[in-house]
Amino acid sequence: MTTELLPTTPPLRSRLPNVGTTIFTVMSSLATEHRAVNLGQGFPDFDCDPALLESVKLAMEGGHNQYPPMTGVPALRQAMAAKVQALYGRPVDADREITITAGATQAIFTAILAVVHPGDEVIVLEPCYDSYVPNIELAGGVVVRVPLTPGSFRPDFDRIAAAIGPRTRAILINSPHNPSGTVWTEAEMLQLQDLLAPTNVLLISDEVYEHMVFDGEAHQSALRFPGLAARAFVVSSFGKTYHVTGWKVGTVVAPAPLTAEFRKVHQFNVFTVNTPVQHALASYMANPAPYLELSAFYQRKRDLFREGLSQTRFRLLPSEGTYFQCVSISELAVPERDLPEGDFCQWLTREVGVAAIPLSAFYGNGFDQKVIRFCFAKRDDTLFEALQRLNRL
Ligand code: PMP
Ligand code: GLN
Repeated sequence: MTTELLPTTPPLRSRLPNVGTTIFTVMSSLATEHRAVNLGQGFPDFDCDPALLESVKLAMEGGHNQYPPMTGVPALRQAMAAKVQALYGRPVDADREITITAGATQAIFTAILAVVHPGDEVIVLEPCYDSYVPNIELAGGVVVRVPLTPGSFRPDFDRIAAAIGPRTRAILINSPHNPSGTVWTEAEMLQLQDLLAPTNVLLISDEVYEHMVFDGEAHQSALRFPGLAARAFVVSSFGKTYHVTGWKVGTVVAPAPLTAEFRKVHQFNVFTVNTPVQHALASYMANPAPYLELSAFYQRKRDLFREGLSQTRFRLLPSEGTYFQCVSISELAVPERDLPEGDFCQWLTREVGVAAIPLSAFYGNGFDQKVIRFCFAKRDDTLFEALQRLNRL
């Protein structure tokens, strides 16, 4: 007699036991459920330039629909090289030093997988973007968390220096910074360059908000600093720059030996990235105006949003770049100000009709400083609607 076995799914030991659904997805779902104005997850609620859509259509109709080269469409890599030279003064080899990726998220993960061996330490500066830590853990790396200075979110070089040891393989930085909106100064980048100079520590520089820097300041790309560029994977995202976050196309610029290792992983990770979109981006990049004008575009929205919030009891933190505005909730007149940030954001979404992201989501230990993040990459009428709802606080 045969034994009838019920079909069962074998039990798993999770590779990421502490990870649930990302806060961005959670808050966007809650915003939809409660018809709240979604200033949580960072994405524009307006469409991209119709000319860019036309370029994609032309590329598709022009037969650019099969696998592109593994490293990315040459015209797009060349356009990136030209931009890096023009903006950051660094000549880069489009064939050996630039790779097109499926967004910044894949770029960062692939860079980590390419260089981090099990047991290697990787320094992250908290608060940090939520993919970094799971990426390091999946590579078998050891996460070393160094806080940015509480209150100002500036890098604390004494603490970074103290965290560097014989097992440190890389440090991950992000400027302009999500979630705080701070932008590293030239002096800070020089300090990092000096600190890393005597070490073999690699740099992963997440620069997805490079074209959103306000008040006349310049983005201090790692590519401007020879000592940093020589050890760096510099990550950009077309999604942020051209209002197309759903397209998931980005780039990594890195010296040839780093790029060679990066591509070994990339080819077995995604292999290639959407062909017609790459062709469209390449021709669209011929005109630098859209990215050169982006800071002014978002600065106007930042100012409009800050002006409205200044009528409330939210205390505004500086927003030097990105499309995020952080506020302290500790001086609000409502009792919910005493809730943990995450619960406050849920309440704000449900009862006030505006979604936001708690800063605690960007810390491994859920550090609660009574600060939440709004995204102002929204149409003016969306921002006015949100401000009207927030006005009672
Ligand atoms: N890094 C940071 C700091 C981000 O804010 C984002 C956007 N969510 C990403 C990386 C990921 O960018 P992409 O959508 O191109 O993967
Ligand atoms: N980067 C965006 C944010 O910080 C969204 C990222 C995501 O949804 N994973 O809100």
